[in-house]
Amino acid sequence: MQLSPRQQQIVAIVKRSGPITSQQIAEELNLTRAALRPDLAVLTMSGILEARPRVGYFLSSKPSQALVAEEIKKIKVGDVKGLPRVIRASASVYDAIVNMFIEDVGTLMVVDEEGHLEGVLSRKDLLKAAIGGGDLQKMPASVVMTRMPNIICTTPEESVLTAARKIIEHEVDALPVVRPVDGQGKKLEVVGRLTKTTITRLFVELGEGGR
Ligand code: ADP
Repeated sequence: MQLSPRQQQIVAIVKRSGPITSQQIAEELNLTRAALRPDLAVLTMSGILEARPRVGYFLSSKPSQALVAEEIKKIKVGDVKGLPRVIRASASVYDAIVNMFIEDVGTLMVVDEEGHLEGVLSRKDLLKAAIGGGDLQKMPASVVMTRMPNIICTTPEESVLTAARKIIEHEVDALPVVRPVDGQGKKLEVVGRLTKTTITRLFVELGEGGR
């Protein structure tokens, strides 16, 4: 459920000054009580606000699903992203495997000499190369990576919810967090990564009330 700007204002007022009467809320917003009634009805029916006669409106002690959703939508990728883990496209598959162990990650971002995104290497990409029987020290990582423009990316400004939906829809473990370096958005600088672990950590933080 998406709260309207006015409903968000009402929630903010009640959060700050509750318990508060509808008359007082109306005065703060320069509205009549009648004009406020539909919004207050929505907010109480959805369980965000509670109302008691002669006391007024106050924030529900059980935060409603809608309020939790509102909070989650506000969290941006830039608030939670991890450090980028990158290798050069010219690196060998062998180097990529060693790098994956050293960095303790499951996905490596592959970049060109200028640090622009060229591709992504997953564990299974490297396993596939390893069972292929070639010389892993000689085989360039770029041969087995998934390459641009087929990379699903996110940006620091995107909401974590949207980015998490991309992870599910495209069935990948990680998204490079990028910033376009040219006007056309063809060259992308890798500024971080968002993984299933990032989302799991955020979920635990939210559940434990630490955020
Ligand atoms: P694994 O293959 O280890 O299970 P993934 O599910 O993340 O890991 O990767 C599946 C395939 O998708 C791999 O071939 C990988 O190169 C590719 N891939 C991984 N991340 C992305 C991404 N963000 N965008 C496009 N392709 C990706």
